[in-house]
Amino acid sequence: MTESVSNPIVRMAKVNKHFGSLHVLKDIDLQVKPGEVVVVIGASGSGKSTLIRCINGLEEFQEGHIEVDGNELLPDGRSSKALQRIRTEVGMVFQQFNLFPHLSVLDNVTLAPMKVRGWNRADAVKTGERLLDRVGISDQAIKYPSQLSGGQQQRVALARALAMEPRLMLFDEPTSALDPEMIGEVLDAMRELAREGMTMIIVTHEMGFAREVADRVIFIHQGQILEEAPPADLFDNPRHERTQSFLSRVL
Ligand code: ADP
Ligand code: MG
Repeated sequence: MTESVSNPIVRMAKVNKHFGSLHVLKDIDLQVKPGEVVVVIGASGSGKSTLIRCINGLEEFQEGHIEVDGNELLPDGRSSKALQRIRTEVGMVFQQFNLFPHLSVLDNVTLAPMKVRGWNRADAVKTGERLLDRVGISDQAIKYPSQLSGGQQQRVALARALAMEPRLMLFDEPTSALDPEMIGEVLDAMRELAREGMTMIIVTHEMGFAREVADRVIFIHQGQILEEAPPADLFDNPRHERTQSFLSRVL
């Protein structure tokens, strides 16, 4: 095994984050290896979104350091070069789909590769069509986001993120805004991505999905990682009393 295979793609060390007087992340240590799927669970307000937003520089932190694929983020945003590289290498899918409403589905997917990566239109379209096919919506390419269901829009958001050929994908409750009957189609696309070996960090309340897809589940409580384990261990034998009471409420 070469060293690059085992080197973590994400390294967080002693990361602390405050919003004013609120201490939101407390001494977060987290390493994620290439190809790993890590699911983050925890109560509302525990710091899950803040944690993953720190990884792609959407939030600054005050102490510690974060390294993503060799690019180091420093406290208080003192790492603008690394930040630019991380933004192009890390894809993110949010609860709200955040598609460009005035662009067709295909144009949503081709925009960033053309603008940021400098691809010509023909190449971007070819890749975009392949990605739309991969998430099962190739027949929607010329429609506008408002003409699509929530589940379809979220799959466009996934295709758009994948168009940048990310080294890492972050998901922040990607199915929480969806009607129940549309959750499955988005989870299927994510499951497929995991199977293909994508490195993924996923905040979700879909515990069945987590059990099936995660290599490791992390439980956050009030800004601290209280417990982490393979899903079968964490769900069936939570060690911490806080984890037990959280799981008893959501399972
Ligand atoms: P989660 O995603 O687990 O629900 P968040 O990371 O969104 O939790 O929030 C963690 C804590 O930080 C919460 O108490 C929330 O109110 C607070 N918080 C989040 N974003 C901000 C912000 N921009 N300004 C101030 N407080 C914030
Ligand atoms: Mg959140």
